[in-house]
Amino acid sequence: MGVADGWVELGDRVFVRRYALYDQNIGVILGTGEALVIDTRSSYRQAREILTDLRSLTGDPITVVVDTHGHFDHAFGNAIFRPASIWGQERCVGFMERTGEARKAKIAAETPELAGELDEVVIDPPDRTFGEFATIEVGGRAVELRYLGRGHTDHDIVVTVPGTAVLFAGDLVENGNVPFYSDGFPLDWPATAAKVAELVGDGVIVPGHGDHAGRDFAASQAMSIAQVADLARRVVAGELTLDDAVAAHPFPEHPAEDARAPLKRALDQIRGEVR
Ligand SMILES: [Zn+2]
Repeated sequence: MGVADGWVELGDRVFVRRYALYDQNIGVILGTGEALVIDTRSSYRQAREILTDLRSLTGDPITVVVDTHGHFDHAFGNAIFRPASIWGQERCVGFMERTGEARKAKIAAETPELAGELDEVVIDPPDRTFGEFATIEVGGRAVELRYLGRGHTDHDIVVTVPGTAVLFAGDLVENGNVPFYSDGFPLDWPATAAKVAELVGDGVIVPGHGDHAGRDFAASQAMSIAQVADLARRVVAGELTLDDAVAAHPFPEHPAEDARAPLKRALDQIRGEVR
């Protein structure tokens, strides 16, 4: 494992770089003569920063991009990487088309210092999509994309590179950060997170935000995500009040959502209001 100018090599020519804004991880897979980037950050300025930082790793073009999901901080830099192909789960496209403009306005209002750079973003969803599984290729290397079920959104994917032990998990797990539930499926997420933990095996998991880690971390986060679903079920069963459930909640409050948001989203899903 090496560190080169801010890039950490977690597997053979598989790198991650951690950006202070949102404590976010961006992945890079180097092939022969071309490279792949995982997630594109929130704006053109931030995406260009990735390209600048990449110069210390490779002079090869980025021909493939993978969006782990369609949230602004993972996909609003997409256009800067064109003409690269951009891969995502098939529902990522509609999600970005439906929510992109409203999300731009919301983030700009909440974070005025980003308003200018968000303003120029044109929503540019993936043009290459798949349902459950895809093997793609970059410079002679295979890269596997998997949809493991609903969780943080209805279209999160994980990225693995055969021959290495690295798994990029997007926001299905967060390390040192709090999972964001507002577009989530709290009742499905526990099983999906458990599959992520199983898939990582003895390897390294790179969360969307925070330190990379091992299976134990992924398994413990999967258990916490299951606790959220259980707390919501107990509220519906009349065993707990919502306030008691919030107090027993395994995650501290997410900076971008109310402390009650995860449980409310779970209650909505139990009541059939989240589809
Ligand atoms: Zn996200």
